[in-house]
Amino acid sequence: MSPDAPAAGTSGTSAPLPAAKGPRVVVVGGGWSGLSVAKYTKKFAPNADVVLVEQRTEFISCPVSNLWLVGAIPLEFLTHDYLQAARENKYTYFNATVTGVDKANKTIATSNGDIKYDYLVLAPGIDYDYSGWTTDPAMEMRLRTEYPAGFIPGSEHISLRNKVQDFEGGNFILTVPGGNYRCLPAPYERACLIADFFKKEGINGKVILLDENPHITIKADGFGSAFEKLYGDYIEYMPSSKIVKIDLDNKKVETELGETIEFADAAFYPHVRGNKLLEKAGVAKDSVFNKMEGNIDVFSYEVVGHPDIFVTGDARPMGFSKSGNTSNSEGHYVAKVIAAKINGNKVKWESPLTVCYSAVTADPMRAISVNAGYAFNAEKKAFGFANASTNEKWDGKDGLNNGKGLISWATGMYNDMFH
Ligand SMILES: Cc1cc2nc3c(=O)[nH]c(=O)nc-3n(C[C@H](O)[C@H](O)[C@H](O)COP(=O)(O)OP(=O)(O)OC[C@H]3O[C@@H](n4cnc5c(N)ncnc54)[C@H](O)[C@@H]3O)c2cc1C
Repeated sequence: MSPDAPAAGTSGTSAPLPAAKGPRVVVVGGGWSGLSVAKYTKKFAPNADVVLVEQRTEFISCPVSNLWLVGAIPLEFLTHDYLQAARENKYTYFNATVTGVDKANKTIATSNGDIKYDYLVLAPGIDYDYSGWTTDPAMEMRLRTEYPAGFIPGSEHISLRNKVQDFEGGNFILTVPGGNYRCLPAPYERACLIADFFKKEGINGKVILLDENPHITIKADGFGSAFEKLYGDYIEYMPSSKIVKIDLDNKKVETELGETIEFADAAFYPHVRGNKLLEKAGVAKDSVFNKMEGNIDVFSYEVVGHPDIFVTGDARPMGFSKSGNTSNSEGHYVAKVIAAKINGNKVKWESPLTVCYSAVTADPMRAISVNAGYAFNAEKKAFGFANASTNEKWDGKDGLNNGKGLISWATGMYNDMFH
């Protein structure tokens, strides 16, 4: 390669950004993790020049979106403004898709030119892994298009909302994948809220919840009792029901236990994996849970062999809950780690915090909740929950208070990320 030729993956054309005035911290992905890394790095290291590179033009929240599916909250509540976040927090929002990372030259390639970095944070979230169901790209594309999972925001959620709102009756299949999938409680919350909608609208429909796991993976008492007491005629919960065959033309699935289930409509949620950008950047490896998640030091979030690159959020390999609060609180800590490098000091490890409210009815809004930190078990070489507490009483005052808590939690998180 000639010395003037662009490095592999990059274009040789610089992105239209002003020259950096201090150490440049490039954050890829404006989700729950990237937004908090960008804001707090600038706060903890005011001389840093922070650039948030995000492919979306506006933020639409996954948390609370199950309530929007059934018309219980407006889309405006979920939608937020990247430009405002950048203005208020004194960083640059650069709207582009990152296509590669040239680690040797500390440069990322984007759909709108190359950007040099001093520190790089990769917070691109998850991708789906359909390989447990099919390796045929045509079949995978049909699943993605006709029965989207609804676990990555945007068109998938709109498709799912329309499916629910227009549903005329029959079986509506939802699935719970194995592995450490995005948002453990969300498929159960979604089942409750869709069943609630069918019940209220008098739709002769049933949610068939096919769970690959042997039991409800979180808040089991709360969800289990809601399924039984509120939605006995509207939810059929089937544990240990991994799908082994999907016949889209005849609209039926077969489970590992040999059952055949017909469906009128569905949202098939496959296993998750680390976002493919990590693999492309050469910073991924299989974790004990999922394919190709960040290859990082689990305390500092630094990529192994590249202490100037970090991976945070749902793309991390640790067994933390893949949830918004976890990603956001982790972002605060990673910002401290980067600021300490810039400022020449050190920080102590801080546990991420999982706070998660799940609605079980829409009107009145009643919810259950979990609150937990994490501790490292040196023998098992793995993290486990620490100081976990749940409130799974959805009936009575607790449920109503949790319902209010859900909305004020989300409002607080949006404030933290955008103001
Ligand atoms: C239906 C549903 C309900 C949920 N409910 C809750 C809840 O109640 N509470 C809770 O705490 N969590 C909940 N979650 C989980 C939560 O949404 C995720 O854990 C959280 O979004 C993870 O944050 P992240 O920053 O890692 O990824 P994301 O929020 O997915 O952000 C990743 C960002 O990276 C961008 N990106 C990806 N690739 C590129 C690229 N190449 N170039 C530029 N940009 C890129 C994406 O556009 C995206 O904006 C829910 C999720 C779903 C789907």
